[in-house]
Amino acid sequence: MSLKIDATELTTFSAKTPAPSLMQFQYTSFRKSLMYMCIIGIPFILFYMALYSYLYPLTSSWETSAWRLYAVASLVLMSFSFYSKTYSPHIPWLVILMGWCCYASLCQHLILTIPNSQSIAHMIAIGAIFIVGITAISPLLSYWQIITAAIGAAAIPLIIPVLNAQSEFIDVALASRLITSAVFVVLLGFKLKKDSHESYQTHSQLHQASQLDGLTGILNRIGFFSTVYAETERAKRESSSIGFAFIDIDLFKAVNDRFGHQAGDKVIKAVANSCLELIRPYDVIGRVGGEEFLIALPHIDVQSLQHIAERIRHQIQQLELTENQKPIKLTVSIGLSLLTSIEHSSDIETAIKEADKALYKAKELGRNRVELARFN
Ligand code: GH3
Ligand code: MG
Ligand code: MG
Repeated sequence: MSLKIDATELTTFSAKTPAPSLMQFQYTSFRKSLMYMCIIGIPFILFYMALYSYLYPLTSSWETSAWRLYAVASLVLMSFSFYSKTYSPHIPWLVILMGWCCYASLCQHLILTIPNSQSIAHMIAIGAIFIVGITAISPLLSYWQIITAAIGAAAIPLIIPVLNAQSEFIDVALASRLITSAVFVVLLGFKLKKDSHESYQTHSQLHQASQLDGLTGILNRIGFFSTVYAETERAKRESSSIGFAFIDIDLFKAVNDRFGHQAGDKVIKAVANSCLELIRPYDVIGRVGGEEFLIALPHIDVQSLQHIAERIRHQIQQLELTENQKPIKLTVSIGLSLLTSIEHSSDIETAIKEADKALYKAKELGRNRVELARFN
């Protein structure tokens, strides 16, 4: 009776439903890290390439190609992080490969340009790429992927000098630094992954709590509409029907005035429980106002819709609630509407408004009754 909904409300709810999966949740934060890394990384690399090409003209053609490849791949990844919103299991491997590629070209570059200060250069490379790269994406990686990424990155500075016939630069100090860094990255990666798991759990608990009504435990208005929107999408695909029952407790203000607010709360809970007992497992019920409930009943015909509504009305009338040994007289009025097929999400909005109007009619006709709005 006081329900006002508009199309934007349904669309906004659609964005919130369903709760993201753990992978999707981690992927969303990963996409952001990736985007920032690319935004900062690309100008840095261009500057670095320009400066070093000027100071130390490159001598190896495969190395220049590797850098170009890396710049192009970064652009691809950046566009991808902007547009691809769905997680795919190939992404972590793609990113690990890209990281190795970048790392190998950086090591190659350092060996060719400043071979004498190789160890220091390696340290910079190890610090910057290991820590920023692997740890930034670690929440998305499996534990094995974190280990593989770290092992690969530790091995690259040992392989590159060998490929360049400069294996004399590999010493115990370099190898131990690489192993230490790899262990450090694995530990940090594991920790970040665990933290991200915990923050996901908190997020999904909050998400769930934000959709439930504290008094009755059924869905609240937000939860109801987000669930119904998901149901609507299915009903639209399957061209199936959906019915709505709008339930309002009769003369509830008088219950509050006579028995007190706490008794009123007890009544609201009792009505919610009666509805829960009588609806089917796949029906959706929500408390959408103080003493107003909405039920969405997918895959239903008009007779079953009326039958369920009548049983709810009847059961609530039969409830024997008391307060200080005084009986509380309790009835509800119900407005019904039925959509035999859904073409647009706005049909739902119209159907709920129709159910609201039918409820108003039930009130006008004396309360404690069920009225059907329309049958299309
Ligand atoms: P009608 O038959 O026309 O629906 O009359 P009504 O008295 O039920 O309707 P009205 O809208 O005048 O009153 C609704 C009352 O519900 C007013 C408000 O104080 C009460 N109410 C709303 N939320 C709660 C709640 O959470 N707990 C309790 N105890 N009362 C509530
Ligand atoms: Mg009301
Ligand atoms: Mg009422």
